[in-house]
Amino acid sequence: MISGPSGAGKTSIASAVLARLPDIVPSVSMTTRRPRRGEKDGVQYRFVSDEVFDATAAADGFLEHAVVHGNRYGTPKEPVEKALAEGKTVLLEIDVQGSRAIRDSVPGALLIFVEPPSREVLRERLHRRKTEDDASFSLRMRNAEAEMEAADEFDHAVVNDHLEEAVSEVLRILETA
Ligand code: 5GP
Repeated sequence: MISGPSGAGKTSIASAVLARLPDIVPSVSMTTRRPRRGEKDGVQYRFVSDEVFDATAAADGFLEHAVVHGNRYGTPKEPVEKALAEGKTVLLEIDVQGSRAIRDSVPGALLIFVEPPSREVLRERLHRRKTEDDASFSLRMRNAEAEMEAADEFDHAVVNDHLEEAVSEVLRILETA
């Protein structure tokens, strides 16, 4: 599991890890957030309505789900359980609440926290990404404070100063796990 504040570089690290280790299965979360430019349904996320999200939750279809930065996100249960039953490794990129839930329900889960070198760098990266409006930007920065305090709860914390180094560190962690 890869977690950490918005803008820390989780997605970049996860993509690089998946490119190097093609046997790892990425979990595609469901979200009620609207797609950003370039995002495709079924690739980054399954973009769904509140009704579909509710129905999935009611049918016990999530391993965990949470409200993050004002939108709903959930890890679909079936694909993860199927992959694990086949002996595969599954990569989840989820928030701190989701990581706690999975840690408590999936034995042997490995929790990796990705953190930025500083708050200023986080602000700058989130700003440069240009994916958020002002309200979402401020919310994500505020939430980052609380998320950063959760780093100690994780098995490993990786500071993402230089992407390549952070990716190598995550690969090392996975190799020795
Ligand atoms: P974004 O909107 O930037 O794609 O994601 C916002 C946050 O939601 C990120 O911290 C991301 O890791 C988290 N997230 C994505 N999918 C899930 C999920 O299925 N469950 C939980 N709990 N968080 C998720």
